[in-house]
Amino acid sequence: MEDSKEKKGLDLQWKILIGIVGGIILGIIFNNLIGPGVTSGPIYILKIFFKYGGDIFIRLLRMMIVPLVFASIFMAVVNLGDIRDLGKIGGKTVAYYMATTALAVLLGIILVNIIHPGQGIDREALAALNIVTEVPDKVSNQGVGEKSSAVIIVDTLVNMIPKNPVEAMATGDVLQIIFFTIFFAIMAAMVGGESETLTKVINAVDLIMQRAVMAVMVIAPYCIFFLVTAIFMDLGVGALKALAKYGITVLLGLLIHAGVTLTILVWVIGRYSPIRLFKAVLPAIMTAWSTASSAATLPLTMDCLSRRAGVDRKIGNFVLPLGATVNMDGTALYESIAVIFIAELLGIDLTIGMQAVIFITATLAAIGAAAIPGAGLVTMGIVLTAAGLPLDGIGLILAIDRILDQFRTAVNVWGDTTAAVVVGRLENAISDGSQMAKVEDEALADVKA
Ligand code: ASP
Repeated sequence: MEDSKEKKGLDLQWKILIGIVGGIILGIIFNNLIGPGVTSGPIYILKIFFKYGGDIFIRLLRMMIVPLVFASIFMAVVNLGDIRDLGKIGGKTVAYYMATTALAVLLGIILVNIIHPGQGIDREALAALNIVTEVPDKVSNQGVGEKSSAVIIVDTLVNMIPKNPVEAMATGDVLQIIFFTIFFAIMAAMVGGESETLTKVINAVDLIMQRAVMAVMVIAPYCIFFLVTAIFMDLGVGALKALAKYGITVLLGLLIHAGVTLTILVWVIGRYSPIRLFKAVLPAIMTAWSTASSAATLPLTMDCLSRRAGVDRKIGNFVLPLGATVNMDGTALYESIAVIFIAELLGIDLTIGMQAVIFITATLAAIGAAAIPGAGLVTMGIVLTAAGLPLDGIGLILAIDRILDQFRTAVNVWGDTTAAVVVGRLENAISDGSQMAKVEDEALADVKA
């Protein structure tokens, strides 16, 4: 406790930012010294060391997802008071998620039709760079060809019900865990007094997991430094240059969606300062950028939103786990741009009808993408097949996918937090932030002590 009297160190977001910038600089230095893809020697050993540093962090975060999601959703349902509120929150959340994902895809399609990133690219130079890589097995094996859009929707809904909740937890299937937990918590509320002891235990688990997230946040900046260094050591600069026009189109789309569309929604419907929200959730956004995984970032997102942004946990506990799994605006936008880019590269003209198909399937593919690195690339198979394009096209964009994944994941997480603010406002569940920041500083000092 004496710690709180000590001179306050740098804020968490600054530390993470220093970790990211330091990692980029060191990674680029190593990249220039030895070139990407080296597989032996002292620098290689160093790279493995950095990779492990990053892996430890991602594992720690993922370790917390199942108990955190279970306990926090259970407590949120039990504390709701009126179970009908659940329907209201759920309805608003799903409507927001569908609308923003559709807007993201639409923006992607408009941008790619204005910029035409595939037209300026020298296909021979691309081939000479040898960056066309094999299509991952996961893409070609999913047999997406036979599935229509309706089947994909029904599949996703039916699959939310776990055959076995233990299996859902063991495999970390967040959607199934959400379904089971809500069902279980409603039943616990119906049982009433008899389930009180269990509720106390789960409440304790919830508090323990919240504290665990704070503990992991202390090491986040260092691990992120390791992670980013390892990523940039491996970056193929040649590929980056060759695909620059495509990469810039995706980044521009992400920037407009995050900075204009979502920001306006936070401001107008959420009646909340977008800058304040951005500052509050910045540690989560930077973690999303570094890990390229919305799922791994989820514990931090939940923490930032409740303690730093002042949105009641009863909202974030529902909106964020669901959002991490189904709401991927960045992924949706990227998929629409990537697919049309591939068509342009292959010299295939897409009719308006085909672009409409891309609009629908890119939305669904983003919903179906797992919240892990590279998942968007895998579900892109759905869009390509629906548009009648060859799956091999994925090989054309693979080389710069990791770096784009980082940016789209950051936008995915930003989208989830904007949803929580909008739904939180509509449900009257947002409190003053200054109080929150104080609580957070004290809590972090406590963890360090
Ligand atoms: N990596 C993304 C996420 O976790 C999904 C993707 O677009 O690949 O949100």
